[in-house]
Amino acid sequence: MTLQTVLDDIQKRPGTGEVIPIIDPVTEEQLTEFTDCGPEAVDEAVARAKASYEAGVWAGLPGRERAKVMWRIADLIEEHAAEFAEIDATNTGMPMMQAELIVPTCAEFFRYYAGWCTKLNGSSYDVKTSGIASDTYVDQHAYTLNEPYGVVGLIFPWNGPIFNASAKLAPALAAGCSSVVKPAEETPLSALLLDRLIAEAGVPDGVVNLLTGYGHTAGAAITAHPDVEKVAFTGSTEVGKEIVKASAGNLKKVMLELGGKSPVLIYADADLDKAIFMAAMGIFVHSGQGCVCGSRIFVERSVYDRVVEGIAAVANSMKLGGPKEEGCMSGPLISAKQLTRVMGFLDEGKRDGVEVVTGGHRLDRKGYFVHPTVLTNVDRGMRLFQQEIFGPVVTILPFDNDDEAVAMANDTTYGLASTVWTNNLSRAHTLAKRLQAGTVSINCQLVFDHSVPFGGYKQSGWGHEFGREGVEAYLKKKSVFAQL
Ligand code: NAD
Repeated sequence: MTLQTVLDDIQKRPGTGEVIPIIDPVTEEQLTEFTDCGPEAVDEAVARAKASYEAGVWAGLPGRERAKVMWRIADLIEEHAAEFAEIDATNTGMPMMQAELIVPTCAEFFRYYAGWCTKLNGSSYDVKTSGIASDTYVDQHAYTLNEPYGVVGLIFPWNGPIFNASAKLAPALAAGCSSVVKPAEETPLSALLLDRLIAEAGVPDGVVNLLTGYGHTAGAAITAHPDVEKVAFTGSTEVGKEIVKASAGNLKKVMLELGGKSPVLIYADADLDKAIFMAAMGIFVHSGQGCVCGSRIFVERSVYDRVVEGIAAVANSMKLGGPKEEGCMSGPLISAKQLTRVMGFLDEGKRDGVEVVTGGHRLDRKGYFVHPTVLTNVDRGMRLFQQEIFGPVVTILPFDNDDEAVAMANDTTYGLASTVWTNNLSRAHTLAKRLQAGTVSINCQLVFDHSVPFGGYKQSGWGHEFGREGVEAYLKKKSVFAQL
């Protein structure tokens, strides 16, 4: 399925809503268009998912059989790696090299969770409960069963289309759930290829149901649907709150992976060359459109000037361009809407007296490119210090001691990720406890592993993806008492 095939195929998908254009963020030209699937399609998809779940065509298989199919999905993703990379690079504007690196990680999601299919057993408990007469006890064989939620809604954003789809589908399939899947309206293309490969690998009809449409139409209909038992959502904190409200109708369970305003603490005793380069990459990679991007850097005062200069130098050396442009290290923002949002933050900051060390402007070329931007002289009350910008914009502030660094780092409603650069082991681990974030990285950034749980503190999320917790998120626990 080449890029051209998905561009053509998406146009043929039935729908009843608005026509949605897909824009190339590098050229600002339309790549293709599709019709919002509309609410009836959501009802039909949920009904298909429910029927497949109740028939047990997937959930009823032995774990080892589900695992075999999931391994086939992983193999097929690898066989089609070049197509996936081309589709996502074109759709998001990210460099080809980055898109190529992501695809094997997606295959690995299916292999990692294939392993869990055979290990989802409950526990048993040898208990004595009180009998009817006082001082008597009754032996009970008690145990738990881990059962799939049934029909789950999987909704995710545009910043890593095939990664986000795999991170949700692999554990949901391992758990035995049937799903309705809604990629972002900006980037639905690679999901079409994945959907085809999932069927080719042997997942029965009705188990995975792809829906293409807007969030406020298709996404909202999934979230409000009475037959969807759980929604797993990745996206902005604002929409996360909408999802919580919409899920109240049937009190569906909700897992949320939301935004961040992640702090990076750099101490004078760190390997500064490495810290400077990685902190710069940690915000400017993918033009700052990563949930864990370190958008607020705090530096020990004695090395503040050196770090600011160093990060600005990396920013100025980064070549931005389209996916296949020679030497390109980062791409454009995803859309005109996102460009307007990022420039809005920058204009406001300039009006409020922020110092622009470098960047602060669009590139003088077609496409939604923003020069990697370093800001200093920032007040902690400013919107650009407090809110997620989701662009290549970093604020850098000095600190004099650990308490001040921690206070500034935690001064946010978010709590997704944080980083500490120091060679003082004791300080590193003490700070790991004090930082209010779901992930703390010590002397590294942008690190993840399929086996390590990932989730947000505060308004960055509910629940965890990846690891055992990631598959347990798709299972409900039942307790059984059997009197002996
Ligand atoms: P978004 O919240 O606007 O959209 C995400 C998805 O939700 C899209 O598929 C969209 O169509 C859908 N949606 C929108 N409104 C909806 C509604 N009312 N009901 C149901 N679904 C709806 O986010 P975005 O701008 O596409 O993505 C960027 C955000 O995602 C950032 O905040 C980023 O931090 C976050 N993100 C978080 C993680 C994480 O793991 N924590 C990972 C990637 C991105």
